[in-house]
Amino acid sequence: MNQTIMQVVPVTFTYPVHFTEHLFEPQQALLRDTLAGPGPSGDHAPRVLCVVDDGVLAAFPELAAQIQTYFAAQPGLRLVAPPLGVPGGERCKSDPDVVGRIHEAINAHGIDRHAYVIAVGGGAVLDMVGYAAATAHRGVRLVRVPTTVLSQNDSAVGVKNSVNAFGKKNWLGTFAPPHAVLNDRAFLTTLEDRDWLGGLSEALKVALLKDTAFFDWLEANAAALAARDREAMDHAVYRCAELHLQHISGSGDPFERGSSRPLDFGHWAAHKLESLSGYRLRHGEAVAVGIALDCTYAALNGLLPEAAWRRILNVLRTLGLAVYVPELGTGTQDASDPRSVLSGLNEFREHLGGRLTIPLLTGIGQPVEVHEMDHDLLRRAITVLEDLQAQASSPSVLHLHSQGVL
Ligand SMILES: [Zn+2]
Repeated sequence: MNQTIMQVVPVTFTYPVHFTEHLFEPQQALLRDTLAGPGPSGDHAPRVLCVVDDGVLAAFPELAAQIQTYFAAQPGLRLVAPPLGVPGGERCKSDPDVVGRIHEAINAHGIDRHAYVIAVGGGAVLDMVGYAAATAHRGVRLVRVPTTVLSQNDSAVGVKNSVNAFGKKNWLGTFAPPHAVLNDRAFLTTLEDRDWLGGLSEALKVALLKDTAFFDWLEANAAALAARDREAMDHAVYRCAELHLQHISGSGDPFERGSSRPLDFGHWAAHKLESLSGYRLRHGEAVAVGIALDCTYAALNGLLPEAAWRRILNVLRTLGLAVYVPELGTGTQDASDPRSVLSGLNEFREHLGGRLTIPLLTGIGQPVEVHEMDHDLLRRAITVLEDLQAQASSPSVLHLHSQGVL
């Protein structure tokens, strides 16, 4: 007997991404409304487990008490325990014990599919808590409260979660849309400069791929952003988040089944540099270098006009982002050397599965995909960036020709 039943399961995911300030202040209805209403069983207050990045708890010492006070005033919600602190930064994704602690708390406090996990923190904590939430009971509801520029404008608005395994970033993970994303601009005020600035590399990335007008705006406002202008940051975060969300809903591949991943511009090198640096480099900082590298490569091989290359490098430098780090220089003679950034190309292909597909630019707002990269040209691009970083020359005199490579 040969028979086939072709099963079709149409599913639409809907989740709000709110932009607000002082989410946990008592008069703020947004959080209550986001979690409001009886659970589907109809007769009990939904349980809520709150997990908070230790770094956020240190920057806002009153936050844990504030969260408890907030929920104490909400009879329709039940905070099951004081906020649970977890270590922040990429290392929390590499320590299985941390995920284990979240699973234990979900189990111990009876967080079921009608309850909520609220994750407050930077992108790494949200990735890790999201993974724990998505794998408990095949997925409990997750509310993300991102606290960094990078997570508010990029990682936390999407549909992915992950932890690291086998020494590889994001090796374990699922696609799981959140219940809601609540962006609170007040969390950005205490960020170190490196995190304030680093997150802007994702805004530059998405502007270069999708929105020439947004690139022009970033170019015009780079100095204000570097000077921590809050209004400028509000716009950068909002527009960057909006472009990421439009891509996820409109690209036709929200769960990345194809081998092309257009939003990963600059990321093949970035992921490798993060790992080579032992995560000394933060994601946004590594993405800035990755963008600089791929743009310089594209300029050297004639894809990207030099004028556009100069504008892009100028924006990176005005934002105060490094375009060269020592990890670019190690072991680059041999792409099979795992200490070489060039080995990141192969790791990127493995992670995507299928054919190597790298987004590059032929102009600002004009992405193109390539399937191989010339290693000699990449080495030359690295040399150009090393020279640029060393010169600290005025951005207006950035010329490929002056580097003696054209
Ligand atoms: Zn990224």
